[in-house]
Amino acid sequence: MRLTFFGGVNEIGGNKIFLEDRDTKLFFDFGFSFSTAKKYFSEFLQPRIVNGLGDFLEFGILPEMEGIYRDDYLKQMSRKPTITPNIDGVFLSHAHADHSWNIAFLHKDIPIYCGETCKLFLKAAQESSFARFGQDFHTYREAFVDRIKKPEYERNFHTFRTGDKIKIGSTEVVPIHCDHSIPGNYSFIIYCSNVTIAYTGDLRMHGPKKQMTYDFINEAVEAKPDILIIEGTRINERERGLAEWQVKQRVKEVISRTKELVLVNFPLRDVDRFNSFYQACKETHRKLAITTKQAYLLETLKQDKKLAIPKITDENILIYIHRAGWGKIAFDNIAVEEVEQEYYKWEKKFLNLNNAICFKDVNARQKDVVLYCDFFDLKELIDVKPSLGSRYIYSLSEPHDEEAEIDFNRMLNWLEHFNLPMVQAHASGHAPREDLIKIARVIKPKTLIPIHTEYPYLFYRLLKFSRIRVKLPKVGEIIHIR
Ligand SMILES: [Zn+2]
Ligand SMILES: [Zn+2]
Repeated sequence: MRLTFFGGVNEIGGNKIFLEDRDTKLFFDFGFSFSTAKKYFSEFLQPRIVNGLGDFLEFGILPEMEGIYRDDYLKQMSRKPTITPNIDGVFLSHAHADHSWNIAFLHKDIPIYCGETCKLFLKAAQESSFARFGQDFHTYREAFVDRIKKPEYERNFHTFRTGDKIKIGSTEVVPIHCDHSIPGNYSFIIYCSNVTIAYTGDLRMHGPKKQMTYDFINEAVEAKPDILIIEGTRINERERGLAEWQVKQRVKEVISRTKELVLVNFPLRDVDRFNSFYQACKETHRKLAITTKQAYLLETLKQDKKLAIPKITDENILIYIHRAGWGKIAFDNIAVEEVEQEYYKWEKKFLNLNNAICFKDVNARQKDVVLYCDFFDLKELIDVKPSLGSRYIYSLSEPHDEEAEIDFNRMLNWLEHFNLPMVQAHASGHAPREDLIKIARVIKPKTLIPIHTEYPYLFYRLLKFSRIRVKLPKVGEIIHIR
């Protein structure tokens, strides 16, 4: 059995774990490596579609491997097409970009195994995307040919549920649900010919669905894995931080104390966080105004009967329609069709809902609205004009690199300009040091491989006196396991 890590090594995210057992070849996660990409590219220095995958391969943002990529992009690089894919499948732990988004570059016949909710997230992300290159997560259309002649394929998805036993060649993969800051998140137990592996994906033990994480840990203990591949995002953090119920409590207090408009910024795909804000609004008799992108996501996720989320037409929800095109949304006596023309196809259906509002309505109803306003929506403040006595709730993690810090400081400038005091309230999607070490000690693998962290050596230091051997992976290095 051989393991190769093509991402997630000394970086948070970008997981691409390649497993070979006899003739079976599988990937576990195929995420986008933001930190590697950021080393070479920026907002105005982007990989070129004209070079197919060449710009990504040049810097190892995608692994150099035959028989896995899309024919259209390979052709563009004068490379041989993939006749039959060289791998048996890709398992996705969840729909966060750093675990799943590079499947957009894979050959359409490669089976993608994931939870039903993960598939819905990928569908919504593609359909409501403003970009094209690298966004074909759900459906696939050949590039570089006449648009009209292009057939559209759905990727080869196989959805699973917790506890399913998926036999592929010489392996059996068992996905187990696990709590993280996005629903539809899974960990895996992988039974190979002579070796058993447990892979955590991303997880936490302090979230609202912590029982799911315990279910995975129990299953992993039973499996007695030889190897535990564990995420270590917060191995350097001792503080557990707030739990989700405390976030909701704090948000509720802030909303009650605020006389005018409340503006909020939280992770778009964190349904637990959405529910915290939704509940806090309901209990303080305010309405939560969401963006069209959020409305589209909620509507797509509604297909998942197990997720408890309100309808977008719920009486406590408003849909904020931003100004687009010439801003006809805000003018009186303009034909509906004319306004619709200014919006993307996927947005049009929200324009005429009874609960759709624009900046004028928010400006007039500041006391009873909580408006979603992330970094990219800050420009809406110019139109909305928050009155003195308004507040901004920042419900995300602290900036983790220089670039994020620059953006964060830019946001602070906007808040200062508009006299908006900021309040922070966030619960992490990742387990802190103490929990990670507890998980390792309870599962007791022979070998532990830390990934998805900038401090993998801390596992080595912290488990020095245990019987667990810590193996620090290197990018592209083959690890043989017998
Ligand atoms: Zn991650
Ligand atoms: Zn994640």
